[in-house]
Amino acid sequence: MDSRKWIERFAAVIDERGAELTELDRRAGDGDFGTNLRSALGRVRANLAADDPSTPDEVFTAVSTAFLNTGGTSGPLFGMWFREFAKGLGDEVSIRSLAAAAGEAEAVVRRLGGAEVGHKTMVDAMVPAAEALAAAASRGADVETALKEAAAAADAGARSTAELLAKRGRASYVGEHARGVVDPGALTVAWFFEAATAA
Ligand code: ADP
Ligand code: MG
Repeated sequence: MDSRKWIERFAAVIDERGAELTELDRRAGDGDFGTNLRSALGRVRANLAADDPSTPDEVFTAVSTAFLNTGGTSGPLFGMWFREFAKGLGDEVSIRSLAAAAGEAEAVVRRLGGAEVGHKTMVDAMVPAAEALAAAASRGADVETALKEAAAAADAGARSTAELLAKRGRASYVGEHARGVVDPGALTVAWFFEAATAA
């Protein structure tokens, strides 16, 4: 797994499909999500170009820093999420380090944001993805298989948010109006893991 290709693929997907995320945030929030994400990924690209990182910890540090410097609720939460990948992955992506990092990462986001599974946030995709990676690690699956399973779990988690009533974030202020709308943060997490399978 080449983590730089993973991030470049993720950035390309956000370029292609960022407008869909903004539309979801417009219906269930304030409509700035796609813009926030695009500006974070602009900073990611600048960091990658400037630092030319090659190891996963360096690549994810560049990603984390970019998100931490971005506005909205999602910027700092994604920043702290990616920071755990930087801390956990080291020099090479292994199934054990990936599963451990994803577990630490979702726990940090839950602690900082106060959202649990079922609250219609990015957590609804982060937790099942981490669980899928942990299950794959415990049966000794390879990284590619594990990431495919994580992507499928994150996608199912993201799609499940449509039916939920939000308990956290701006979508919680609009109540029933957000019913039927997929949470854009959760969808982004699904795209992130999907990008790994394409990288
Ligand atoms: P803002 O609501 O400040 O405009 P963004 O539009 O950048 O923030 O991000 C919205 C996304 O952030 C939501 O789709 C949701 O996934 C996520 N989110 C909002 N609040 C929380 C929270 N307390 N914990 C986890 N994720 C959250
Ligand atoms: Mg918003």
